[in-house]
Amino acid sequence: MEQFDLLVLGGGSGGIATANRAAMLGAKVAVVEDDRLGGTCVNRGCVPKKVMWYAASIAETLKFMAPGYGFDVTLKEFSWSRLVAKRDQYIERLNGLYENKLQTNNITLLNGLGHFIDANTVAVAGKHYSAKNILIAVGGEPLIPAVPGAELGITSDGFFELKQQPKKVCVVGSGYIGVELAGVLNALGSDVTMIARGSCVLRNFERSLSLQLMRQMQDDGIKFVVKQEVKQLQQQADKISVVCQPSSLQVVQAECCKHETAVDEGVVLEGFDTVIWAVGRKPNTTKLQLASAGLKADSRGFIEVDKFQQTHVPTIFAVGDVTPNIQLTPVAIAAGRRLAMRLYAGQKDLYLDYSNIPSVVFSHPALASVGLTARQAADQFGEENIKVYNSEFTPMIYAMTEHKVKTIMKIICTGTDEKVIGIHLLGHDVDEILQGFAVAMKMGATMQDLRNTVAIHPTSGEELVTL
Ligand code: FAD
Repeated sequence: MEQFDLLVLGGGSGGIATANRAAMLGAKVAVVEDDRLGGTCVNRGCVPKKVMWYAASIAETLKFMAPGYGFDVTLKEFSWSRLVAKRDQYIERLNGLYENKLQTNNITLLNGLGHFIDANTVAVAGKHYSAKNILIAVGGEPLIPAVPGAELGITSDGFFELKQQPKKVCVVGSGYIGVELAGVLNALGSDVTMIARGSCVLRNFERSLSLQLMRQMQDDGIKFVVKQEVKQLQQQADKISVVCQPSSLQVVQAECCKHETAVDEGVVLEGFDTVIWAVGRKPNTTKLQLASAGLKADSRGFIEVDKFQQTHVPTIFAVGDVTPNIQLTPVAIAAGRRLAMRLYAGQKDLYLDYSNIPSVVFSHPALASVGLTARQAADQFGEENIKVYNSEFTPMIYAMTEHKVKTIMKIICTGTDEKVIGIHLLGHDVDEILQGFAVAMKMGATMQDLRNTVAIHPTSGEELVTL
C-alpha cells in the first residue's frame, strides 16, 4: 500500500492550496479528486460567475453609460453561446495550470472518489492508500428542496452549463448566489423573477444596503415575489410553473418591496423556461464513510474542527466548505496554507483567525462588507457604545448619464477611540475599494486613522477617509 505524509480528499480551493504548500515544505502528498481540478470556485463558482458578471457589467455600460459619454452605440447582437464557449476555454486553461502545479510539486493525483477505510487509510477506485495525516476538503454542492417537481429546476451548477440564454427565468432564493445570478441574467436581457422567503434580499448583510440593492434591482427590471416559498414546480407544455405558499420564515423586516405580494395566500407564477434553485448549499460528506475513521458529521453534514482545523481524530483535518465556517475560496485557501505551515514548517501555533473576513457580493451594483453590521455591533457592544458613519451619494461616473445608481458607505465604530469594527459599501467600484480598508480594519484602525490618510481625488473611495 502506497504511503503519504498527507493525503488530501478534494482538489478544490482548500485541498490544492494545502497540498501545494505541504509539498513545497517537503511532505509526500497525494490529492484525490474525481472531477476537474480547481473545485467549485474554478469550475462552477467564483471564476465563471465573475466572467458572467463582467459580461453583464459591459452590457450595462453599453446600455446606460455609453450614450451619456457621447457614444452612439448600435448593438448588433449578444451571443451567450460565444461567451460561454470562451469562458469555458479559460476555465480549461486554469484546470491545466492546477495540474501542472501539482506535477511541479511532485504531488500524486489519484482520480476517483475517496472514502475512509480507517483513520489513516483511504480507498480510491478500489485501491488503498495510507497517510500520516488526512485532510478533508471535499467542499459542498447546491441544495435542491424536497418538493414535487424539484427536478424541473436547475442549480447554480446547471446555470453554468446553459448553452443558450434563458428568456424567462425564476430564481428561487435571495442569498448571494441568487442575487448574483439574477443580476447577470437581467443585465444580459433575460426576464427575471426572484422569489424570497423574507421581504428582502441578502438578509444577513447591513440592512440599509440590502434594501437599497433590492430597490436598484427592481428599478433595473427584476420582479420580486417576497415572503413566499416554493411548494411545487409543474411542467406545463414546454414551460414551468412555480407554485408558492406563504413563507414559514419568521423574520421581522421592514417592507422594502415596491410590489409586495400578499402573504396570506400562495401565488402561482407561470411561463418560465428556466427555474434556478439558489436556496443554499450542503457539504459533500455522505460518501466519505466517516464512521470508518471514527468521525461523525454534525446534523447538517458539516465536519466540526477546532481552530487548528483538526477534527476530533488527531490525524484528520478539514478545511473549506465542508466545515461550518465562512464559505469562501480565500478562506479555504488561507486555512489550508496555515495548516500546512503548522504541520510541515514547525509553526506550531499558526491558525486562521476567522474574524473580519471581507467579502463581496457581485450584484449590480456590488456590495462589499467586512466586520460587524450595525445590528450585530449593537448586540455585542450595546447601542450606546457604537457610532455609525453614513454616506450616500451618486458617484461622479453617473454625472454624465441619465441612469443613476446610488452609492452607500457605512462605517461602524465602537469605543471612545472610535475603533472601526465594520465597513459596508454598496455601489460602483466598491468591490475593488474594500480590500485595502479591510487591511486597515484588521490592523485595528480607528476613524482618526482613516481621517489621517489623505484622500485620492476624485474617487468614491475618498469618501471613507473624509467622513
Ligand atoms: P471545493 O472548491 O468545492 O472543492 C471540493 C472538491 O472536492 C471538488 O472538486 C469535488 O469534486 C471534490 N470531492 C468531493 N467529494 C470527494 C471525494 N469523496 N473524493 C475526492 N474528491 C471529492 N467564493 C468566493 O470567495 N468568491 C466568490 O465570488 C464566490 N462565488 C461563488 C459562486 C457560486 C455560484 C458558488 C457555488 C460558490 C462561490 N464561492 C465564492 C464559494 C467558493 O466556490 C467555495 O467557498 C470554495 O470553492 C470552497 O473550496 P473547498 O476547497 O472547500 O471546496
